Amino acid sequence: MPDYSPLELLIRQQIAATGPMPVARYMQLCLTHPEHGYYLKRDPLGREGDFITAPEVSQMFGELIGLWAASVWSAMGAPEQVRFIELGPGRGTMMADALRAIRILPAFHEAISVHLVEASPALREKQREKLADAAEVEWYERFEDIPEGPAIVLANEFFDALPVHQAVKTETGWHERVITLDDDIFAYGVAAEPIPRFEVLLPPQARAAPVGAIFEWRPDTGIMTIARRLRDQGGAALIIDYGHIRSDAGDTFQAVARHGFANPLRRAGEADVTAHVDFEALARAAQDIGARAHGPVEQGAFLARLGIETRAQTLMKNAAEEGAQTVAAALRRLTGEGKENMGSLFKVLGISHPSIGTLAALSDHDPTGGAPRP
Ligand code: SAH
Repeated sequence: MPDYSPLELLIRQQIAATGPMPVARYMQLCLTHPEHGYYLKRDPLGREGDFITAPEVSQMFGELIGLWAASVWSAMGAPEQVRFIELGPGRGTMMADALRAIRILPAFHEAISVHLVEASPALREKQREKLADAAEVEWYERFEDIPEGPAIVLANEFFDALPVHQAVKTETGWHERVITLDDDIFAYGVAAEPIPRFEVLLPPQARAAPVGAIFEWRPDTGIMTIARRLRDQGGAALIIDYGHIRSDAGDTFQAVARHGFANPLRRAGEADVTAHVDFEALARAAQDIGARAHGPVEQGAFLARLGIETRAQTLMKNAAEEGAQTVAAALRRLTGEGKENMGSLFKVLGISHPSIGTLAALSDHDPTGGAPRP
């Protein structure tokens, strides 16, 4: 018998008992199954781990996010108390760097209380260590559990880890893509019945897709909950992830292990499985609730507008030769073009209370200014 991971065995039993499962269900089990989920027991980040994220590339990233948050706080009218919320904080690096940068603005620093939404006990522990001297921190299972009040919400590489549904276009319409067993190994299949009226939900550019095309979507509930809170209680959110500015057909379901691509249908629970974020869908869902959307813009442009070049020069001046090279490499990784860099692959979207007309570094070319939709 091949060497199956514990989660693989469990999913095989489920498929044998109740039939093929949607890709979204498979992804959810892979990442957050309470016992064997990928995130639950390990710290996947860093050079030694499976992948590296922007805050782990350089302190510049979190510092600039901190200054971005300060400018949002001013735009909110500098409330005396603001909840500083992060979704999926990983090792807590971005929050620690942001809080350090914010110290130069005592009024904002004092207004902040830190609230983290984290599913992984292993990563909560890392966050606790990292932030021990920086702030009083509260942890939550769910965003909905955070106490009321104006908020600034951050999410870097969080939405890509939320389960994604896939539909496949066939001669008989769009069918949900499922994971099934073929000769005893996981394989893709399609649900027997087409999804009723699926075509109507698609953006026009995806309706014309050929047979065999795949369309991905995530339930809107997460973004709607965030947008509703901002609309009712004030504040803004910053969502950073790899993804596309316009909704369209395409298969981006992937697995990453040891910094390379892997087959998402093998060794369930032992690789990071993700899919690109559809930023148009996020912005539309937020606007439908009555919040304002800002951007999205590419990460490279966003960081440039926040002054990353100047920050890099300061760090380089204060560093020895080798350190200066590290800073230069980090700057390239965070802002550069191409697949090996994050500058154009990653996008940044702001969501805010409708009264906030612009958010720093996110001004966009939308003639409606991202206003809520009637
Ligand atoms: N933001 C960090 C980590 C990104 S990895 C960084 O940029 O380095 C994704 C993070 O989201 C991890 O902390 C993971 O444990 C968390 N996460 C994934 N799915 C989650 C869920 N459903 N609820 C809460 N946290 C989740």
